[in-house]
Amino acid sequence: MTDCVIIGGGVIGLSIARELAGRGARVRVLCREQGRDTASWAAAGIFPPAPPPGDGAMPAGDRLTAWSDSLHRRWAEELRDETGIDTELRRVGGLHLAASDAGLERLEAAAQAWRARGARCDWLTTREIIEHEPALAPAVSTGGVRGGFLLPEEMSLRPPRHLAALEASCRQRGVVMTGADVHAVEVRDGSVAGVVTDSGIVHGATYCFATGAWSGTVASSLGLAIETRPIRGQIVLLRLPRQVLGRVVNFGIEYLVPRADGRLLVGSTIEDAGFAPTTTPEAVERLRGVAKRLLGALTDAALEQAWAGLRPGSIDGLPTLGPIPGYDNAFIAAGHFRAGLHQSTGTAVVLADLVTGAPPTIDLAPFAPARRGERLAGPPPDSVAAYLARAASEEA
Ligand SMILES: Cc1cc2nc3c(=O)[nH]c(=O)nc-3n(C[C@H](O)[C@H](O)[C@H](O)COP(=O)(O)OP(=O)(O)OC[C@H]3O[C@@H](n4cnc5c(N)ncnc54)[C@H](O)[C@@H]3O)c2cc1C
Repeated sequence: MTDCVIIGGGVIGLSIARELAGRGARVRVLCREQGRDTASWAAAGIFPPAPPPGDGAMPAGDRLTAWSDSLHRRWAEELRDETGIDTELRRVGGLHLAASDAGLERLEAAAQAWRARGARCDWLTTREIIEHEPALAPAVSTGGVRGGFLLPEEMSLRPPRHLAALEASCRQRGVVMTGADVHAVEVRDGSVAGVVTDSGIVHGATYCFATGAWSGTVASSLGLAIETRPIRGQIVLLRLPRQVLGRVVNFGIEYLVPRADGRLLVGSTIEDAGFAPTTTPEAVERLRGVAKRLLGALTDAALEQAWAGLRPGSIDGLPTLGPIPGYDNAFIAAGHFRAGLHQSTGTAVVLADLVTGAPPTIDLAPFAPARRGERLAGPPPDSVAAYLARAASEEA
């Protein structure tokens, strides 16, 4: 019997599998879609600055992010040593720019908030913006960029490479990976006895559900009401003749992320559009327009591909991490919304703690399943609604 069956092969499921296998467990991952059908593949891979972990006054979500951030640096090195894959985790820095009075006001408040959290945040003159990123000179000179700040500690990582490295590392550690749709869960006397797939029932000693935006449905089959509302994000990838940016450029809710090979990723939308990971012509045009506004005609003919992913929204902005109430061998890790790549390492360590019976490294009370009255239908939860409102109304 496998020690742990993990359902879901996105960044959360694979990270848990890697950590568990590293502790000597026999692990099997069952996954329906892999690669680009997961939110994890679709993500931009931006890691905003994370203050050093250990500050007790930090909100729970920030604490998980800060701890995960420090683990990521170690994981990136380990993954490169184990698999030869460079995940492109780099401290590139992030510019946050505005084009309007309202946008500048929002950035001033954001800069104060970053400083209050202990992050270095440098307010820049327009001349300094051009010094940092000369490709923005035309946008600055025409008033398309009016000011902003630099977060030197902002990092970025390349999600498809990170996933490939995780998968290779899992295989080296003996993890068995199977393409399978889990469509029912067998329960017996307060335990999960098996998960039902098209090719039969899979048994394990423990089960970990890391099923992203689909987790609400999976959890409800175990009597747990959590909402992991799918919030679509669309991204376009441009191929430029040469890379013109060195840093991530955040512009309102949109952003440009330069890749080492010259490609430029432009994201993203925030849409409450159900389980439809498809792109729309309007969004693709809008994102291309952002690139053109900031970098000019250079980006005109450069569209290489476009994709969409479904972020798992949560009701209070925090992921759900912990034992599933009523079962002695089932755990859940879901609902990471916009930060699942960033929070994946801490999530993996703490879920591996739970599965192996070790005391969890961080306090899991704020993330506990059934921590509040969940709802499964109706308007989007407040944590998601705030982003949807920004996406609908906020101009840079
Ligand atoms: C456009 C976009 C940009 C983003 N940018 C960032 C960013 O910059 N930084 C960041 O940290 N995060 C970002 N995110 C968020 C991040 O991608 C998610 O929080 C994270 O990927 C969630 O990972 P997951 O493993 O829970 O879900 P997924 O990656 O969706 O994986 C879930 C897996 O479970 C499988 N599954 C579901 N149900 C079943 C079943 N019944 N049987 C078998 N398998 C099943 C699915 O097929 C899928 O493989 C972004 C997301 C999007 C869409």
